[in-house]
Amino acid sequence: MGEVNDESVQVPSATRSSRLPGFHRRSMEERWRELALRGDLTPEELRVLCAMDAPHLDVVNQMIENAVGVFALPLGLGLNLTVNGRDHLVPMVVEEPSVIAAVSLASKLVREAGGFLAEANTSMMIGQVQLTGYGDPELARVRLLAGKEQLLALANSFHPSLEKRGGGACDLQVRILPAPEGPHAEPLLIVHLLVDTQEAMGANLINTMAEGIAPLVEQLAGGRVYLRILSNLADQRLARASCRIPVASLAGLGTSGQDIAEGILQASRFARADPYRAATHNKGVMNGIDAVAIATGQDWRAIEAGAHAYACRDGRYGPLTNWTMEDGHLVGRIELPLALGLVGGSIKVHPGAQLGLKLLGVSTVRELSMVFAAVGLAQNLAAVRALGSVGIQQGHMAMHARCVAVTAGARGADVEKVVRLLMERGNIKVEAAREILASLQAPLPP
Ligand code: NDP
Repeated sequence: MGEVNDESVQVPSATRSSRLPGFHRRSMEERWRELALRGDLTPEELRVLCAMDAPHLDVVNQMIENAVGVFALPLGLGLNLTVNGRDHLVPMVVEEPSVIAAVSLASKLVREAGGFLAEANTSMMIGQVQLTGYGDPELARVRLLAGKEQLLALANSFHPSLEKRGGGACDLQVRILPAPEGPHAEPLLIVHLLVDTQEAMGANLINTMAEGIAPLVEQLAGGRVYLRILSNLADQRLARASCRIPVASLAGLGTSGQDIAEGILQASRFARADPYRAATHNKGVMNGIDAVAIATGQDWRAIEAGAHAYACRDGRYGPLTNWTMEDGHLVGRIELPLALGLVGGSIKVHPGAQLGLKLLGVSTVRELSMVFAAVGLAQNLAAVRALGSVGIQQGHMAMHARCVAVTAGARGADVEKVVRLLMERGNIKVEAAREILASLQAPLPP
């Protein structure tokens, strides 16, 4: 992979057309040249795209279409996490300040109380096949269920190695759903193919199976198949974690343990009662889960979709965690679907994902799910502990002030000085940071 040189990026008056025929067939160097022209990029800006070394650029070129570079995000380590008696260093890729500090702090509290307990289901995923024009829905259901073994055998023929590993298609259900248009329209007939995807997230292999069995579904029940794809509501693949903390050991932030516990219980009630609050509550949970998902090469959009759909499973959006008081202990629980993989997708291809998984030190995808669930619960504990007492702004603003100082141009030792003065003045704005920086850099009077 080549390097950006200054003469390759002479920038004429750029045209902003998004029509770039044949872009995907060009080499990385050709794409950079085109980008410099189209995007009005300076040589410095272009160098940001190739901040990684050549092997990594080759990898991204294989991973996605029209690749032009790498977008780096900070990678940090969540500390203190103990799950089922095992310690894990948690690699987290995240741009938001305070997330890693929060997970580390809450994990420390839980660690001192014995650590997280967690469990996870097997990797059972759902493939959906939509059948229309089938005539009598009950008759179609009976015919499909009568052909179940034939359908499962056909599904497994598309991935025999999965079955050999102990997984594969193992059950089939037929669901008849009311038509969204009203009682006079054809009800929806959806076949659910249940597949144990073992150590893989499983989207691709399920989609292959769902497409593969479609002709037999049509043959058995009549009608026409439309969609054939996995469901991201992976509710057969749940992970759970819990923690139990003596109330006294919650004391901190200038507040007694009892008061902190009460604040957490109030936060939990609020999220159970109000979807507006539950959305923010769950965003906090996903702060941790997404960060470790990115660091380990997972499809975090799939995880997000599954988590929020599961949060709505009772017909009303609710929190993914729950906090109660039991025998003088604050007890937290989380349950959510986690479709993760140790193989498949880009996991084996992306060197960062491999590094992340090595750091995490898990040997099975179920163990990975348990760690993810514990991270989500830790993140939530830190958030509700602060929200139910002193609020989160105190911690957030210190980190925000660092970003503001850097945005204003502070570097090295100046960053801390600018942050301190911004915090003292209570005005954390870029303009204020620029003024402080200018005063720090002004020559001393003779
Ligand atoms: P792959 O298509 O890469 O399949 C995983 C493969 O890994 C299996 O087919 C299997 O092949 C191999 N494998 C090796 N060892 C094992 C093992 N122990 N257990 C299971 N499989 C093993 O990935 P997935 O099917 O997991 O699909 C994930 C990808 O799909 C992600 O990139 C995701 O972003 C994407 N995706 C997501 C969608 C969604 O969420 N809606 C939709 C479409 C795609 P073999 O048996 O031949 O060795």
